[in-house]
Amino acid sequence: MTPTAVPSTVHDGEQDLDLTSSAIDHKLAENGQSNGTSTTNVQELDASKLTYTFTEKPGDVPPLGVDSIDGVTVCTDHMITAAWSAKSGWKTPELKPYGPISLMPTASVLHYATECFEGLKAYRGYDGKLRLFRPNCNAERLLMSATRISLPGFSSGEVEKLILALMAVDGPKWLPRDRPGSFLYLRPTVIGTQAQLGVQAPSEALLYIIATFMPVLHSPAGGMKLHTSPDDMVRAWVGGFGYAKVGANYGPSLLATKEARARGFGQILWLYGNEGYCTEAGASNFFVVWKTKEGKTEIVTAPIDDRLILNGVTRRSLLQIARERLEGEIDVVERKYTIQEVMDANAEGRLLESFAAGTAFFVCPVSLIHHRGQDIQIPMGKAGDGGPYSLKIKGWLQDIMYGNVDHPWGVVVQEEQ
Ligand SMILES: *Cc1c(COP(=O)(O)O)cnc(C)c1O
Repeated sequence: MTPTAVPSTVHDGEQDLDLTSSAIDHKLAENGQSNGTSTTNVQELDASKLTYTFTEKPGDVPPLGVDSIDGVTVCTDHMITAAWSAKSGWKTPELKPYGPISLMPTASVLHYATECFEGLKAYRGYDGKLRLFRPNCNAERLLMSATRISLPGFSSGEVEKLILALMAVDGPKWLPRDRPGSFLYLRPTVIGTQAQLGVQAPSEALLYIIATFMPVLHSPAGGMKLHTSPDDMVRAWVGGFGYAKVGANYGPSLLATKEARARGFGQILWLYGNEGYCTEAGASNFFVVWKTKEGKTEIVTAPIDDRLILNGVTRRSLLQIARERLEGEIDVVERKYTIQEVMDANAEGRLLESFAAGTAFFVCPVSLIHHRGQDIQIPMGKAGDGGPYSLKIKGWLQDIMYGNVDHPWGVVVQEEQ
């Protein structure tokens, strides 16, 4: 049932218009309290119980630059799984050989999109160490996404430990020390597995974590070209679930993306409403650097308070670092802004830079936006590889990820060998 379909009665003193957010707040609060203090027999997710079954058929590490073979993503030797049921809670998590999972055709995820995921990278540092970047943020967001689609709760700290455990085992071989500057892409996922049709919260679920190879996407030659979303399509809407990393957000976006790719564009710039608010670029957050009419330099991106866009870890990190290190030089602004404002800035010579930012694309300079038959050309800096602010911020984050500097955001994995 959607929140709007609920009769407008006042229940427990709460307005029906708060249904979704109050349900989520309640679940998250419950979850925070229940760790170890549960009075029922339902087991909490416990990373310390992780069991290890090592592969007998170790795979080959692909050559640098190879991420898939015959259209199949290359994954490391192992994965972690943890099954959940409403009756007994979380089973013991297992590290085991990477391979297929089995589902009944009636599984909830296959019908009702009870799926959410995370994406984070493991980085082989220039100092030889293996790092994750703010993995707690991904674990927390996974919990939020799971809660949004009625998948079970867990302590996000336990998920973070499981991510580290997988990397401790597979990191040394799959991110060799002689490949500094390389990365793996980790994909923690939760799916509803209950094999019963019927539109309801699943009573069984599976959490799994895999480690994959992925191409480097952050510096396409000449910059990334964006095509604005078609008039008759919207990625997310206020009151929807665009702020959650749920699979249901992505399938429907592929049609426009495929069409745009066929015309030589990299991603869709998703606009919202009749006003044409700029929201996100593909599955990345979107940023513009411009001079205001008053002559101030601003870095501007869409806000998160209307729950329209995904609250990216890269987004919040680069906003924070820009606020800290570019104070007085540039204003960091989270607000709604329209494609018309971008076009006006362009027409008046005030448009300085633009980039998309997310784990997959990292900080990816945008050179062109095509909107309703018009091209907005965006400066790409002296060397043509991105504007100075984009590159500066990218460099700062990269230094943390690859261990050129010590920073609390870079979490070192204690490797097994
Ligand atoms: C994952 C994602 C992002 C980027 O988030 P990061 O945490 O920075 O990787 C942005 N937008 C959408 C729609 C996403 O799915």
